[in-house]
Amino acid sequence: MPLTVLITGASSGIGASAAHAFASRGYRVLLAARSADRLRQRAEGLNADHGEGTARALPLDVTDAEAHARAIADLPPEWAPDVAVLNAGLALRLVPVWENTVEDVDGMVDVNIKGVLNGIRAVVPGMLERGRGHVILLGSTAGHFVYPGGTVYCATKHAVGALALGLKQDLLGTPVRVSLVSPGLVETDFSLVRFGGDRERADAVYADTNALTPEDVAEAIAWVAEQPEHVNVQEVLVTPRVQAAGGAVLRGEDAEGL
Ligand code: NAP
Repeated sequence: MPLTVLITGASSGIGASAAHAFASRGYRVLLAARSADRLRQRAEGLNADHGEGTARALPLDVTDAEAHARAIADLPPEWAPDVAVLNAGLALRLVPVWENTVEDVDGMVDVNIKGVLNGIRAVVPGMLERGRGHVILLGSTAGHFVYPGGTVYCATKHAVGALALGLKQDLLGTPVRVSLVSPGLVETDFSLVRFGGDRERADAVYADTNALTPEDVAEAIAWVAEQPEHVNVQEVLVTPRVQAAGGAVLRGEDAEGL
């Protein structure tokens, strides 16, 4: 029977590419996010490409702990997740930390930290019962370094790094694996969300440089999941060649050929 992968944040960007990468490798994929229509379209596309029963849309808001737990608990047994890629996340605005509104802070903390904890609570007990599982969290270079205007987002990604380390400690002695995939600059809707839909400002983040594609990160996630059972990759930190993990991104002539 094929393994099932839950992917949160599967309606766009890294999550959508991860769904494609896993479906192409013969896994069943559960696509979770809030945008039900986008998820259904993606699931239909994957089912058309890889066979009926490959993908299933699972509309949910990761900040709603009860709904998240119920959505997983109500799945038929063959759809119980063997791998959970807890990827849903976002940044809101790029401003000095004292200018972040309560809504900014709640938005980032609720999705990036509490949403991940809701995911862990929803999937880990079932994995322990079934005697297998792999939890893969999406960190960031922002979980290693901090850049101006991104303090709250960076703090949430530092927290995700701590959650990955702590979960690994708590699961030691069980068959459940824990990994963290930490990308640098990836061209997705991430900046569009951060800048409240300002397309010009979002595009400028990826202009004149050579960012990672969501497919690059999806390949790293799939590689982590496909290691032999006795191997636990703790973290993959992956940046484009134009980026040093401290935050410096080359642009223009400096980025040519990289
Ligand atoms: P993206 O294209 O904006 O995708 C974010 C995904 O998260 C969307 O599918 C969104 O779907 C989902 N999401 C947001 N809030 C949610 C909620 N409350 N409940 C359920 N799903 C929610 O951005 P991305 O770049 O792929 O980001 C994916 C992950 O990678 C994030 O954790 C991000 O922090 C991390 N990351 C990104 C970069 C980068 O440069 N892009 C770098 C390092 C790390 P809905 O809106 O439909 O709910």
